[in-house]
Amino acid sequence: MDPLATDFVPIGGILSGSHNNKAVKIRGWVHRSRTSGGLAFVVVRDSTGVLQCAVKKDAVGEEAFKEASEAYLESTIMLEGTVKEDKRAPGGYELAAEKVKLVWKGEPFPIAKDQSVEFLLDTRHLWLRSQKLTNVMKARHYIVKYLREFFDEKEGFFELAPPIITGAACEGGSTLFEIDYFGIRAYLTQSSQLYAEVFTTALEKVYVLAPSFRAEPSRTVRHLCEYWHLEPEMAFYDQRMNMDLQERMLVHVCQRMASNHADLLSALGRDPDELKKVKGHFKRMAYQDAVELAAKRGANIKMGQDIGADEEALLTKGEDQPVFITNFPKDIKAFYMREDPGFPGTVLNADCLAPAHGEIIGGSERIWELPELLQRMKEQDLNPKDYGWYIDLRRYGSYPHSGFGLGIERLVKWVLNLDHIRDAIPFPRTMNRVYP
Ligand code: ATP
Ligand code: MG
Repeated sequence: MDPLATDFVPIGGILSGSHNNKAVKIRGWVHRSRTSGGLAFVVVRDSTGVLQCAVKKDAVGEEAFKEASEAYLESTIMLEGTVKEDKRAPGGYELAAEKVKLVWKGEPFPIAKDQSVEFLLDTRHLWLRSQKLTNVMKARHYIVKYLREFFDEKEGFFELAPPIITGAACEGGSTLFEIDYFGIRAYLTQSSQLYAEVFTTALEKVYVLAPSFRAEPSRTVRHLCEYWHLEPEMAFYDQRMNMDLQERMLVHVCQRMASNHADLLSALGRDPDELKKVKGHFKRMAYQDAVELAAKRGANIKMGQDIGADEEALLTKGEDQPVFITNFPKDIKAFYMREDPGFPGTVLNADCLAPAHGEIIGGSERIWELPELLQRMKEQDLNPKDYGWYIDLRRYGSYPHSGFGLGIERLVKWVLNLDHIRDAIPFPRTMNRVYP
């Protein structure tokens, strides 16, 4: 057998029943195995599933049997045999092997059962082969695919590429990663929003999907130092249209995941029927009412303070769908958010809170008139010189516009109901980890 041959069958195809009683060849990695006497059960995985293979000494010969029974977890293996329906086998099918060959035996695999979280993070490059992370990464792929499908095919957006190295802060100075750019101070971007705003001047409806970097000093289950950020920005959209768009986007992703990937969700312990309930008409609540409600439900929060994870949990308690919190006080929000003419002192913004998981989106209508922008920058002690090009956008052909930022890993965490954001990304970057 040649591992590069093109006639291997994906295990997922076998599990779907389309090869019953047929001769097939499979290749993959040893997921589990046990031998007793002249019979070895080797469970093999490939990217599409796992299959139990019965390897009998009588059928494959002495030497091949030895190879199969002495293989390590994760040894690379090829088998040829006949598919048999078998209720006792996981997945309902078994391969009765006639030929076995190891591609690479390798060394004993270091990950066994019940390892500590730290050990699994140290061996992340190997742990990514686990069933759980394999399923999460597949689901993440689909979630991103449906986001793109939504913007590209349903809403007519253009995707653009922003710079990752920037010269000024977008979200405030405290979480900036500074770099030495040929002797000048530069930063890894915290958000591509300001550039996305530039793109709207030419293409009107755009989005950026790129990493954002935040030197988050706190350890929480929902902050990474490097995360993937989807940032749509729309010309001639007000804040209401902005929220409607976010709602349509989340409904699209949840419905697609629930209808097309119910098995994957169930394998991850997420009930697809729960996601089906995300249908639209999300609750919209002003900050002031949200603070009152959170306090009534036991939160220790005062008017004017930012809404944190504890309050978010209280505000989404018992909800099937995300909730928007609108109209935050302008002095606790970023400089680019437009003041609400109907509710002065507050801005036209919304955080979108997912039930049990908290904020997944922050969005707002942007200040588009030059005097308001300059005034706000002054109030927030920002130097207009640092934002020259951004201010220019209000000098030439300005217009009402809105946008939002969605953390991909936050969305994945909610859709899959993960305990920790680190499992929503292959190599999580946190305050105390840049390895592997
Ligand atoms: P939080 O209050 O949770 O720190 P934020 O207000 O700093 O969030 P924004 O600056 O509005 O967040 O960023 C937009 C979106 O980016 C958030 O709604 C969230 O989904 C995501 N996000 C922000 N910070 C992080 C992070 N450190 N790790 C992962 N995702 C993040
Ligand atoms: Mg933050």
